[in-house]
Amino acid sequence: MAMSSVGGIVVMKFGGTSVAGAPEMERVARIVSAAVVNGQRVAVVVSAMAGVTDALLATCRLAARGHGSAATGAIEAIEARHLEVVASFARSPGCDIQALSDEIRRECRDLTTVLSSVAVLREITPRGLDRVAAAGELMSSRILAAVLDSEGVRSRWIDARRALVTSDAFGAAVPLDATRDAVAREIQPALEAGEVPVVGGFVGATEAGITTTLGRGGSDYSAALFGAALGASEIQIWTDVDGILTADPRVVAEAQLVERLSFDEAAELAYFGAKVLHPSTILPAVDQRIPVKILNTLRPERPGSVITAESAADGRPLVAVACKRNVTVVNVTSTRMLLAHGFLRRVFEVFERHATSVDVVTTSEVSVSMTLDDDRRIEAIERELSGFASVQVERGMAIVSAVGDNLRRDPSTAVAVIAALGRLPLRMVSQAASRRNVTVVLSDEDVSAAMARLHGEFFAAAGVVR
Ligand code: ADP
Ligand code: ASP
Ligand code: MG
Repeated sequence: MAMSSVGGIVVMKFGGTSVAGAPEMERVARIVSAAVVNGQRVAVVVSAMAGVTDALLATCRLAARGHGSAATGAIEAIEARHLEVVASFARSPGCDIQALSDEIRRECRDLTTVLSSVAVLREITPRGLDRVAAAGELMSSRILAAVLDSEGVRSRWIDARRALVTSDAFGAAVPLDATRDAVAREIQPALEAGEVPVVGGFVGATEAGITTTLGRGGSDYSAALFGAALGASEIQIWTDVDGILTADPRVVAEAQLVERLSFDEAAELAYFGAKVLHPSTILPAVDQRIPVKILNTLRPERPGSVITAESAADGRPLVAVACKRNVTVVNVTSTRMLLAHGFLRRVFEVFERHATSVDVVTTSEVSVSMTLDDDRRIEAIERELSGFASVQVERGMAIVSAVGDNLRRDPSTAVAVIAALGRLPLRMVSQAASRRNVTVVLSDEDVSAAMARLHGEFFAAAGVVR
């Protein structure tokens, strides 16, 4: 069992697969119980049950196409899945099945009301989407709080909308400073009373109380925000792998555990597609130098990975490789660019106007190439850019990134990264000023080969990764 300083506050965040059903929730309760028995003060942040956020978003798409009864049917299935989990705790002492089932039913009834009006209007607003998407965490957190009680851990369910105050940028809400006061008011008293506060991740509300979400994978971010506001001594992200691995295990089967890495390395890995951690998670933790641990719910005795302020400085050339598939490359060319003062500003203003963020950027005197994760606005963007430059859009591309603090110290590593890719055609190559990553953009078809080559070159030899 992972331990931290006795008496300190530990924020434990459990991902969707960790709360996929009743046996998983019991496992989580045992992990939390062991920490409490150890003398730790624990606050729990939980994701929606596995697959629920996707299912909820699918109901929104159905309703927006006018399929009201199909959307309602899908909500019934989601409700049934939650009620089934609740029912399996029927014989547990200290678990008020009736009250909990009523809460689940009420939440689903609210969703049905929202979706029925969406089906009539045939339009879903970002605000409506957030209201529906938030239901997954609102329900899983209520259930987990009850499961903790039934396992003998005194818990207190907290509505995330009272604890996390955000902007009204629905779908990607920005946490506001008022969150500190909200956490002091809503979460802190539970800890002081010797209870385990349980709060859904990913979800917040505006100052006016309108439900928002932090964006996909945002529960990690919630955990870090609450950890920072509580002055936690550690943030633990419990998931379905042993920690941060040298590559996504679904892409490179031989990926190995990285026991220690720096905040900067973790931030770059998350940014470049290591989905194990939400990219923003690191920020609140860095600000207060709170270590973040990644642990496996299925194997809690394993050491996991720890992310700290200091670089591990153990001489390994890279810490891990990451990839992001399905990106779109936009090439903008202007023969007048060299002379045209403000050209790049004009280019980026177009992306800004369409609220589309750009990941990798490379420039030459006459052109600038950019990758986009989210290309939903690409047609409008292309049209605007075409007003002052020639534009070419390529879909089906991917980003592969080699990350490690050592890239700063040893320039030969960057050369070795490119050399390891052999003759794979590279569309863009970039090394940012941080020099903690070497990033290439290539065709999506070449991702597996690129990842295998890099992993083979840098991690196959025993002893490279501690
Ligand atoms: P959770 O539901 O717990 O938030 P996620 O699915 O968001 O879990 O993240 C865990 C998954 O991240 C792993 O199952 C793994 O497939 C993927 N992953 C991608 N890159 C890495 C990496 N470098 N190390 C570990 N896991 C990774
Ligand atoms: N449930 C949300 C999602 O699937 C947030 C999370 O799990 O972190 O994106
Ligand atoms: Mg996640």
